[in-house]
Amino acid sequence: MGRYLGSVCKLCRREGEKLFLKGARCESPKCALTRKNYAPGQHGMKGSFGQKSEYSKQLREKQKAKRIFGLGEKQFRNYYKVAETKPGITGDVFLQMLELRIDNAVYRAGLAASRAQAREIVAHGLLKVNGRRVKTPSYMLKIGSVVEPTDKAKKSVLFTDLSKNKDSSPKWLKVDLKTPSFEMISLPDKSDLQQGVEAQMIVELYSK
Ligand code: SF4
Repeated sequence: MGRYLGSVCKLCRREGEKLFLKGARCESPKCALTRKNYAPGQHGMKGSFGQKSEYSKQLREKQKAKRIFGLGEKQFRNYYKVAETKPGITGDVFLQMLELRIDNAVYRAGLAASRAQAREIVAHGLLKVNGRRVKTPSYMLKIGSVVEPTDKAKKSVLFTDLSKNKDSSPKWLKVDLKTPSFEMISLPDKSDLQQGVEAQMIVELYSK
C-alpha cells in the first residue's frame, strides 16, 4: 500500500487520541479531535472508539504507533523483525529503533514541528550528519552523530528562528537551537521512548 495522503486528523479521530501529527495546531483549539471527538465516517458518532476483542486492541495499538512515526506497514514490520533478533525486550528494542531514525530525532530535537515536517527536511537534503549530507528519513543515528543544516539551509527560515524556542529535547540528544544542531550522546532509555504506545501489544500481534 502507498503512503497515506488523506487528512492526518482523521487518523487521530480513528484512534480516539491525539497523535500530534500537525505541529502547533495539535496544541490549539483548532485540533480536530477537540472539535469532533468521535471517529470519522458515517457511523463515527455511534461510538466506534469502543474496543472489543484482544486482537482489535492489539491492531489499534499497532496502527496508532505506525501513524505516530508515519510509516507504512511493510517498513514498520521490518523494524519489528530486526528488533526480534536483537538482545533485550523486543518491544523496547523496537521502539528504540524507531526513535533512532533521523526524521524522528530531528523532530525530538525541536528542529521540526512534526515528524512529517522533519521527514521533508531530511528528504530535501537540508541536513548533514557528521559533515555528510543525508537525504534518507530512515537513516539511523549512532552515538556521536552530529546533525546540522547544510551551510545553504542554515539561512532558511526553517532554522533561523529556532533559537526563540524552548529546548524540550530528550536527554539522549544534546541540542543547540542557536546553531542549530544536535548530537546523539546516548541511546534513548525506556523513559525516552514514545509514550502512550504499548509495544508489548504490538509484539503480541506480530508474533501470532
Ligand atoms: Fe491529531 Fe494534531 Fe489533527 Fe489534533 S490537530 S487531530 S492532534 S493531527
